[in-house]
Amino acid sequence: MSQFLSKVAGAITPYVPGEQPRGRAFIKLNTNESPFPPPQSVTDAIVTASASLNLYSDPEETLLRAALAEYLGVAPQCVSLGNGSDENLAFIFRAFCDDEHGIAFPDITYGFYPVLAGFFGVPYAEIPVRDDFTVCADGYAGLGKNVVIANPNAPTGLMMSNDDIAKIASSNPEHVVIIDEAYADFSGQSAVPLTAEFDNLLVVSTFSKSRFLAGARLGYTVANAELIADIERVRYSWNPYNVNAMTLAAGVAALRASDFYREKWAEIIETREWLKRELRRLGFEVTDSRANFVFCRKPGVPGRDLYDKLRRDGGFLVRALSAPRIRDWLRITIGARADMEALARALEHM
Ligand code: PMP
Repeated sequence: MSQFLSKVAGAITPYVPGEQPRGRAFIKLNTNESPFPPPQSVTDAIVTASASLNLYSDPEETLLRAALAEYLGVAPQCVSLGNGSDENLAFIFRAFCDDEHGIAFPDITYGFYPVLAGFFGVPYAEIPVRDDFTVCADGYAGLGKNVVIANPNAPTGLMMSNDDIAKIASSNPEHVVIIDEAYADFSGQSAVPLTAEFDNLLVVSTFSKSRFLAGARLGYTVANAELIADIERVRYSWNPYNVNAMTLAAGVAALRASDFYREKWAEIIETREWLKRELRRLGFEVTDSRANFVFCRKPGVPGRDLYDKLRRDGGFLVRALSAPRIRDWLRITIGARADMEALARALEHM
């Protein structure tokens, strides 16, 4: 740390992203990226947009907001875009949380939430998930705090019902409830329709996982127009050109290619269910993940040993977890079917 570092920056604990190795060719199953590239129509749209990079991107993000609103069945004023959904979450924290408006989230969840809370000086409460890792909706009823819940949750992949989400939103009318749907396209359920019903509910999602565009950095928030106007206030105070022109074009093209994506989601889901069965057959404990990853452990085998062996012997890069309650668990992204079959073979000898 230099002598110039501010008190705020000195006090934060930065997020540690999953490894992005360069050089050695790993089978990368550690950051929930898609094994498939985006369709040609998306890369074509990026090339076309690149011809006009002398101009700033549209700060109102008109075309993509309209396309996304139509896809989601909401009004364009109910959508806000971000440079990855991490940025949407940051806008939301800045807009609705402060030292007097704390936030609650599960003790086992996406590690970025406590980092954001630290960054913005927001007090936070971690509500324990049950022993089977399910999120206990009753723990959030009438809590008197803002709430953020990933659904499906990461890294467990477990889901809460929309009825439970409605319960949490209706019992916290003075606070916002944020549902992070980064993995929802692999689950068959979304809370977006509930945003019309609850004026304190925000749904955040991303093009990183289910639209195969992690490198393009595109996320969004859906909520009623008043909450979105609040978020836009923050966005315009941070970076009005937060989504670059190539990514805006890629987003529109990706929405037009929704049939292509639906087919691929079905393929990923089928592989996920196959891998769950295989892992159980091999003696693993596996949660009922509804995301594009599985969460598993082999009783009696340290997670770190599994991670090391997979990396060394098979060239598989998976995510080992360090939080006390999940120390021996691994999160494994669903890759191409052949790679998953090779992974299952490698695990057979562990
Ligand atoms: N939410 C959850 C639950 C995630 O797992 C991730 C991916 N790390 C994100 C949000 C952020 O995704 P992105 O910034 O790529 O949209």
